Amino acid sequence: MYDVAIIGAGINGCSVAFELTQAGKKVILFDMTSIAGGGSGAAGAFISPKFSKAGELKELLHEAFLYSMTFYETHFPQLLTKAPLLHIAQDEADVSALCAYKKQTQIELLTPSKEILDAITKEAQKEENISINAAIVNAEAMCQALAKSAKFVHEKVENLVYDEGMWNINEEYCAKEVVLASGAYKSLLHEPYIELRGIWGHRIDVKTSTTNPYSLHQFVSISPSKEGVVAIGATHNVHYHPQKSQEPYDLEQGRAELLEKASRTLLLENVEVLKDYTGLRSGSFDYIPIIGPLVLSDATLQNKSLRLHTKKPDYEAYSYYPNLTMINGNGGYGFVLAPYLAKMLAEYILCDTKINPRLSPARFFARWAKKL
Ligand SMILES: Cc1cc2nc3c(=O)[nH]c(=O)nc-3n(C[C@H](O)[C@H](O)[C@H](O)COP(=O)(O)OP(=O)(O)OC[C@H]3O[C@@H](n4cnc5c(N)ncnc54)[C@H](O)[C@@H]3O)c2cc1C
Repeated sequence: MYDVAIIGAGINGCSVAFELTQAGKKVILFDMTSIAGGGSGAAGAFISPKFSKAGELKELLHEAFLYSMTFYETHFPQLLTKAPLLHIAQDEADVSALCAYKKQTQIELLTPSKEILDAITKEAQKEENISINAAIVNAEAMCQALAKSAKFVHEKVENLVYDEGMWNINEEYCAKEVVLASGAYKSLLHEPYIELRGIWGHRIDVKTSTTNPYSLHQFVSISPSKEGVVAIGATHNVHYHPQKSQEPYDLEQGRAELLEKASRTLLLENVEVLKDYTGLRSGSFDYIPIIGPLVLSDATLQNKSLRLHTKKPDYEAYSYYPNLTMINGNGGYGFVLAPYLAKMLAEYILCDTKINPRLSPARFFARWAKKL
């Protein structure tokens, strides 16, 4: 019998596993591929805030950026590469966002070095930019390190039943609590109000004689060079889906797009593509991540005393799956958000600490139920 079963060993599931095992819980972690076998293994894992004017996601990412930089550095310094980041505006809207960001941010702004300003293309030199201290994480190794104290099971979870106060998983394992961390893959529990967008991404590692000391973000992100290798990523392809598309994904086309976009920022010489990484990001429909207990829609709809057509829904009056939570919807910022969200989710599981209702799955139930 386990205290907690986590389904999905991406950065979300592994971060929750870390928090709970640190608190002394017995954790079992399932993945049908491998640790970091989904979107997390494809990530360039750049740790950066969102350089935008204002808004809820920007605020959340600001908090999460500060938190995760300290978290990774404290617990896994060997898997974190600290490097200055230079974000270069890619269009007029980005110029105005960067100007607004610079005026109100509390993050220390750097003056980009002459070396990097000379290295970027003439076109990139003309654009507005912003530079801060940031970092990159070794994605796969980080997930493995976070999951180290949990029992890992390489198995697809197909059967999840709550019986006599515990969850039975694949008719073989038992746990008091379940955390769903299954990314953009087909959900195990079919709740109609939870919809996630899978956004396909492709990144590459290339060998190059060009030396780059910065993380560069413009049309794509380019990592600092390490032993003659830089990572370039990532594409945002909303048309391709590994489980739905008829045609196979065109790797050559993806590589060409990445190299063309990177070349608008940095002249990469003597390039040889070493490795391709592809995977799905999982985005929510309001771009805000989703963490917390899952509403049981059937049982909630049967409660006739509930007012569903109201501007101020009472989430506490909804019915929920017993001892079951989810963590998902990190979009393109999984490695920035996961440590921060996992801490919040673990505090909810361990101490019943309230989660901000704006992050709760219940917000999607409320919107869905209103339309019925
Ligand atoms: C190309 C690319 C580049 C990216 N770059 C960055 C970046 O620079 N910085 C950043 O912060 N983020 C980046 N991201 C985003 C980040 O990778 C995602 O936000 C993050 O991986 C989401 O993690 P997750 O744990 O929710 O999902 P995933 O990593 O997809 O994990 C979900 C796991 O659940 C498993 N699973 C699903 N269903 C079951 C089941 N029934 N039984 C067992 N296992 C199951 C899957 O096999 C999968 O391994 C990038 C993403 C991509 C694709």
